[in-house]
Amino acid sequence: MSSVLQAEYVGDLAPYDAEEAALAAVGATLTTFRGTDPDALVEAARDADVIWLEWTPHLTRDVLNRLPRLGLAIRWGVGYDQIDVAAATELGIAVANAPSYCTQDVAEHALALLLATSRQVVYRDRQGQAGLWRHGSARQTRLSGSTVGVIGLGRIGRRVAQLAAAFGARVLGYDPIASTVDGPVTRVGLEELLRESDFVTVHVPLSDETRHLFDTATLAAMKPGATLVNTSRGGIVRQAALVEALDAGRLAAAALDVFEQEPLPADNPLRGRDNVILTPHEAANSPQAFQDLRREVCGGTVEWLTTGWTAAIVNPQIRDRARGPAGGVAATAAEAGSGAGER
Ligand code: NAD
Repeated sequence: MSSVLQAEYVGDLAPYDAEEAALAAVGATLTTFRGTDPDALVEAARDADVIWLEWTPHLTRDVLNRLPRLGLAIRWGVGYDQIDVAAATELGIAVANAPSYCTQDVAEHALALLLATSRQVVYRDRQGQAGLWRHGSARQTRLSGSTVGVIGLGRIGRRVAQLAAAFGARVLGYDPIASTVDGPVTRVGLEELLRESDFVTVHVPLSDETRHLFDTATLAAMKPGATLVNTSRGGIVRQAALVEALDAGRLAAAALDVFEQEPLPADNPLRGRDNVILTPHEAANSPQAFQDLRREVCGGTVEWLTTGWTAAIVNPQIRDRARGPAGGVAATAAEAGSGAGER
C-alpha cells in the first residue's frame, strides 16, 4: 500500500474527498500534516512515498536525507523553490510541480497590475472613496504605445506578452534559456530591455541565478520613470533597493504580488504609498485554477504511483535511478517516455 502525505498550509484545499477516492483506486492512502516544524514533518512523513507540499516546512537537504522512503515530492504550485531539487536529485527523489494550472490567472493579474499602474486605478480609487475631485497632479499613461519588457518567456511570460501586445504595447522579452518563442515579442538582451521599457514585468523562477536579479544596479539601469511589476517570487527583487529607487523618484511605480518576506511585515516601507500596489500573493487565485491545480497534483501522483513517472517531474535526470513507488512499478528509461524531458 502506497502512502501520500498532504503537507497543508492553512487547510483551504480541504476536504480531499476526490483525491482520497482517486488514490484509493490505485491502492494508496492520504494522510494530512499541518505545521511548520521540519522534525514534525519528518516524523509524519516516515511512511510516505509521496509528499504534497503547499508552503511549509521546506523540503531541505536535511529533511530529504531523513526520508529514505520518499520517492516523489510535488509542490502545490508552479514554483518549487521550497524544495532542494539538487539534494532530491542526488537522492533519487523525483520533484514535480503543477506547471500550467494558473498560467492565464497570473498573466491576467500581471496585466491588471500593468493597467492599474498606468491608469492609477488604486490611487484614483482612494481619491474617489475620500470624495476628492480632480485632486493631485499625477498623470495617467497609456499602455497602448508604451514598451513592456517581459523578463522570463515561459508559460506566463509569453501569455503576458500576448495580452500586452493586444493592448497595443510594443513587447520586448529577455530569457537566456528559452529556445524559440513565437508571438509578438522582440527578444533583446537584459540591458536593452531595461533601458527601453516603460513597464517591466517579471516571470522567472526563484533560483540562485535569479535571486536579487533586480538589485540597485538593475533598478538604476531601468528607464527613468518606468514601472516594475513582479508576480513571480519576492526574492527576485531586493526590496530595500526598490524602496530606494521609489524614494529617489527613479521609478514611477511598482506593483507586487510577491515579497521577500510573506506576509509583508506591517512596518515595511513599501506600504502606504500612492504609487505602489500590493496584492497578497493572490495572482493565481480563481476557482478554475484551483480545479486545475487539484487535477495536476493528484493526476500526476496517480500516474507516478502506477507507472513510476509523470511528465511534470522537474529533475528528469534521475529517471534511471529514481526511487520507485513502493506499491507501484519502478520507472525505466523506456517507460518514462519522451514527456519526461519536456520541462
Ligand atoms: P516557466 O517555467 O514556464 O517559465 C519560466 C521562464 O523563466 C523560462 O522560460 C526560463 O527559461 C526563464 N528563466 C529562467 N531563468 C531566467 C533568467 N535568469 N532570466 C530570464 N529568464 C529566465 O514558469 P511560468 O509558469 O511562466 O512561471 C514563472 C514563475 O511565476 C514561477 O517560477 C513561479 O515562481 C511564479 N508564479 C507565481 C504565482 C503567484 O501566485 N504569484 C503563480 C504561479 C507562478
